[in-house]
Amino acid sequence: MILRKFWVRHRDQLIEKAYKVMNQFDSLTPEVTSSPPLGNKIMVIAPHCDDETLGCGGTIYKHHQAGCTIEVIFVTESEDSYLASTRRKESENAAHILGIKRCHFLQQRELTLRPTVENVSRVKNIIKDFRPEVLYLPHPFENQSDHKHTYQIVVSALGDYAHEIKCLCYEVWSTLMPNTLIDISEAIEVKKRATQCYQSQLSSNNYLEKIIGLNRYRTIVTTPEILYAEGFYKGSLKTLKRFFRI
Ligand SMILES: [Zn+2]
Repeated sequence: MILRKFWVRHRDQLIEKAYKVMNQFDSLTPEVTSSPPLGNKIMVIAPHCDDETLGCGGTIYKHHQAGCTIEVIFVTESEDSYLASTRRKESENAAHILGIKRCHFLQQRELTLRPTVENVSRVKNIIKDFRPEVLYLPHPFENQSDHKHTYQIVVSALGDYAHEIKCLCYEVWSTLMPNTLIDISEAIEVKKRATQCYQSQLSSNNYLEKIIGLNRYRTIVTTPEILYAEGFYKGSLKTLKRFFRI
């Protein structure tokens, strides 16, 4: 009980600090675009099988329509081997719909993921081989440990990546303060179909309705022609590294 009270006070103090920073700006309206960042090779890092679709499925499909080569790294899986195998199959079906060429499965046990030297090295090797120009990853303020640790693993893996890369953090469990909105109105039906592949997850929580609701909400700051948008924090590698110290 005492611990809970301490945690609540600490959380509220942190939110207060964040509000004070936000209050320094008159407007934090994000940039709105209909085109994803330019690049031929696109990499998405998903802590779990479904995050790539929920977080940036519409944008992935737009990259596919533009002729890009897209690969995804799925970091964790369930310790229940039947569920793990089911989710891998679901992600391959969703990948097919979104136009993802290759899925890498690191098969780390979910909820125990840590940014170990080995995990960083595995991600680093895949990135080095593929050499992506655009990379999507979870954002650092996610309220879920596998998402947070995936962020740390990826940013550490990019440490000495000399190739120029554009990094965009996507939102799933916690909303972010986006500086970029990508219009996915024309891709929304494809995103819905890809999300429906994840029946093992949808049976316990209607992620489809919730994530489509979020994508609809994101257009609250756009012109009315845009019906759905995915929100991102786009930042340089230097900026993403700084978030470690917050
Ligand atoms: Zn997840």
